[in-house]
Amino acid sequence: MSLSFAPQTPRQTTIAKSKKMSTTTEQPTAPPLCRRCKEHDGIYVLRNEPPHCRGCYEYFIRSKCVKRMESYKIRADDQNQIPTFLLPISFGISSTSLLYLIDSQLAGQRQKVTRTRYRLKILNVDESVLDPSLPSGSHLEVVKQRFPDAGDYIASKLEDIYSFTECADIPDLEKKDANKSPRECMQELLTALPSPTSREDMAGILRTRLIVAIAQREGCSGILWGDTTTRLADKVMAEAAKGRGFSLPWQISDTKSPYGLKFLHPLRDVFKKELVTFVTEITEPPLVPLCIAYSLTPKHSAAAATSGRNITVGELLTQYFDNMELQYPSTVMNVVRMGDRLKPSNPEADPCTTCGLPADENSEGLTLGSREDTGEARGKLCYGCMRATHGAAPHSWPVM
Ligand SMILES: [Zn+2]
Ligand SMILES: [Zn+2]
Repeated sequence: MSLSFAPQTPRQTTIAKSKKMSTTTEQPTAPPLCRRCKEHDGIYVLRNEPPHCRGCYEYFIRSKCVKRMESYKIRADDQNQIPTFLLPISFGISSTSLLYLIDSQLAGQRQKVTRTRYRLKILNVDESVLDPSLPSGSHLEVVKQRFPDAGDYIASKLEDIYSFTECADIPDLEKKDANKSPRECMQELLTALPSPTSREDMAGILRTRLIVAIAQREGCSGILWGDTTTRLADKVMAEAAKGRGFSLPWQISDTKSPYGLKFLHPLRDVFKKELVTFVTEITEPPLVPLCIAYSLTPKHSAAAATSGRNITVGELLTQYFDNMELQYPSTVMNVVRMGDRLKPSNPEADPCTTCGLPADENSEGLTLGSREDTGEARGKLCYGCMRATHGAAPHSWPVM
């Protein structure tokens, strides 16, 4: 069994050292037995507990996901209609693992009771408009080949948001060219935003709104997000740092979002590093070739982070929690619990024109321009969106 993954971990260094020593002084010792089944070699450490074998490791991850899915009590409605859920897949390790786990849960249900409790649609949003080095949507075909029975596959591009929206100019300005392609509109919008953090923030909002719009078009009753404990913790801090603390109850909890769909996070009890081992060493054949958005080397080095160059608040916090979960997993869990306990301050408030969430008391009126507009405030901006667009050049925003 390979132990070659993540050569930088301290555990790996110890193994390498003891191997070296054993050639001269010690006999190599056999790995201990798995603590769960007590049958196979236990070589994978889980939650600092004595080692598990491959099968028991997979069982652990699977049961975390299944337990959450069971807790959602997904059933057919009174008319015997089976609900449909949308699973957005970014080709990273979390959403790919979630697809793997849901696919096998559905296969199990088909075998046992001939029909599944819910249907799945799998969506990829191609975001190459943000950065040409991001994975292309064409990879969805490869994923489909691996999970042909999981559900319908939908390919989309971030700029498709324009087919669900009308555009409002901020501030009021003459439309320069109505014949621009959606991609050009999106590029122009991103260039107008004042900083990399603001671009990342607003791109995230556009992504969520597009995923919601597609889920609604496809008649879905909810969205299954791939977020792990680690990712949820990093969201708690990043959203708070960006002045979007008010939106946390809907971003972290398993609940009905203000967009009218359920937002569920079946992997909320799994750490990211556990999924890294899962996709590289546990799944058969390994899932990792499907995870083309995942890279072993972090996109931004610690050096870049301290110099503060080219790193966004989101990236910084992702890196922080990736390191944090290795040493302080319970702190990471507590951050998520803290976010989960927050209650929306004003859920009935008018939605923010930009992010679509009920705007908080710090929101302000927004003048949206259009050709025959009177210039009166027609919308509201929440505090987070106000901050993200502060100092932006005039731009056109897709309004739902
Ligand atoms: Zn075992
Ligand atoms: Zn907003």
